[in-house]
Formats: sequence, structure tokens, C-alpha cells
Amino acid sequence: MKKEEQMREVLATPGATRYILEKYGIRARKKYGQNFLIDANVIRGIIDAAQITQDDCVLEIGPGIGSMTQLLSGAAGKVICVEIDESLRPVLSETLEDCDNVKILWQDILKTDLRAICDAYNGGKPLKVVANLPYYVTTPILMQLLEQKNVFRSITVMVQKEVADRIRSGPGSKEYGALSLAVQYYAEPEAVMTVSPSCFIPRPGVDSSVLCLRAYGEPPVECNEKVMFGLIRAAFNQRRKTLANAISHGYCAGGKQYTREEVTEALEEMGLPATVRGEALSLEQFAQLSLILGPEQKGPEQSIGF
Ligand code: SAM
Repeated sequence: MKKEEQMREVLATPGATRYILEKYGIRARKKYGQNFLIDANVIRGIIDAAQITQDDCVLEIGPGIGSMTQLLSGAAGKVICVEIDESLRPVLSETLEDCDNVKILWQDILKTDLRAICDAYNGGKPLKVVANLPYYVTTPILMQLLEQKNVFRSITVMVQKEVADRIRSGPGSKEYGALSLAVQYYAEPEAVMTVSPSCFIPRPGVDSSVLCLRAYGEPPVECNEKVMFGLIRAAFNQRRKTLANAISHGYCAGGKQYTREEVTEALEEMGLPATVRGEALSLEQFAQLSLILGPEQKGPEQSIGF
């Protein structure tokens, strides 16, 4: 089989990836977090975990040279890719030339209106998001997906293992934080597999994990959302402080400032000591605290912004 044919068959091999990078004189760009997948089994594992069918419209963030896109194109009804690096244009024209159901938007995902993508390509319905994420912007990308309401059904992504552990952690562990709570409020996280650095070119310096987040139809807790995320932000911005101190010094959701006494009283009502730290509270407890301390005051809209 000629090299070109081999490359079309499966791009996610070390040989085909090196060949295509050399052919187009491309070097993986660190500033865009480029680590290309060279293991087709890992890609199939991601697609299986995302349960992609012909009825699905998939959003792929960062197609790179198209290794995962090729397989997504076969599995899904439609694939919308958002790629920031325009130097990959000639590569994708070749590697995706037979993939009629793929549309590439050359832009920054962080500046992309995801609701507009749902409307334009999926009849307004939420998308299945799949990606080998650029690690330098993992948290902002996840927060953007979570904050824009009803834009995803599931998010199946390769992330640094450390980030996957953080997202799935609970109260009391040192990884637990604002990101864990935000993700767990919007979706159920599941770790699908651990992936070694040898599955990428170039090799990242860390282990990776595939994480699948399935959106909840309804939030798992009743809360005052704006107040709750303000409390979470304040609690973890100063995580060594007691919650009462962190909130009374740092919290200002919608213009409201709580006193130490107000917070202590609310904690007492919940049966928690005045000295408790935010890292000891579960999502349910932050939700309860938000209902006791709310209602929110009028003020500028704030993003969750972790
Ligand atoms: N999907 C390919 C693969 O698995 O081989 C490439 C994955 S690579 C880890 C991350 C990809 O995201 C790169 O193609 C990179 O150019 C792209 N990227 C980085 N920052 C981006 C951004 N802000 N918006 C859209 N794409 C971005």
C-alpha cells in the first residue's frame, strides 16, 4: 500500500502522523497545546465512551491534523470542528477530503458562540462535544461549555490526568475545588481511561485521562445559583481561611457583602462549626448555604469565572 493510502486508512499512527507533519512542514505548536494522538484504539475508546451515533451532531474542539475527525466523521451524522491554528488548513483539506459531513470553523473556541452552533447545525439541540483538549486552556474551555446553558449533552475529552482527578474529587481531598463543584453541578463525571504519553506526538510531560461528563437534565441540587457560585469562588480563592472569613472578606455576588456573623449563623443553622473551611463542604451544603444566605441582590452579571 502506498504511503498516501496508508495515511488515509488510519491517520492515528506514529508513521502516518510523522509523514503528514513532514509533508506539510508542520511542527507541533506548543502555544496551541498541540499533542497529536497516534493511537487509533484510544480514539475509538473516546468515540465509544461518547456513544456517538449517526443521529448525533458532534462538536470537535481542535481537530489538529484530523486523526480523530476522520473516525468521528464515520460514526456521527455531522461533525463541526473549531480549530484556531490556520496553518493546518492545507492538512485538513487533504486528510478530510472524503469527509462530506465535516465542517471546520477556523476560530478560537473561547470566542465561539456555542448556542449559535447548536442553532445553525443541530436544530437548536445540544451537541455531543468530543476533544483531545489543548491542556493550556482546559479549565476555561470546560467552564465555557458548562456556563452556556444547554449547549451540550455530553462532553468526552482527553485532559491531564491531574485535572480529571480534580474534577472527580470530593470534600476533604486536596484536589477538591471550584472546578470539581462547577462540573458536578452541571454534569456527572466519569473517568473512561488513563492514557500514557506514548500515545501522542509530541509526548506530553504528564499522564492523560479521558473524561466523560453527561449533562444533567435538572441540576442535582436546589440552590440560588448565582449566590452559590459566588460563595464557591470566595471559599476557594482563599481556601486556607475559614469559610466565614473567606466569604465575609471576599464574597460580593451581585453586590451583596455578607458579614462574618451572618455566615456563622447560617453555618450554625446547617449544623456546621464556625471554623469550617470551604473545602469541607459538599455541593449539597454549598447549595443549602446559598438558599439561607440569598436572595441575591441586583448587580452586574458575573461569570462563574474559575
Ligand atoms: N484532535 C487532534 C488530535 O487528537 O490529534 C489535536 C489535539 S491537540 C491536543 C489540541 C488542538 O486544539 C490543536 O489542534 C490546537 O491547534 C487546537 N487549539 C488550541 N487552542 C485552541 C482554541 N483556543 N480554539 C480552538 N482550537 C484550539
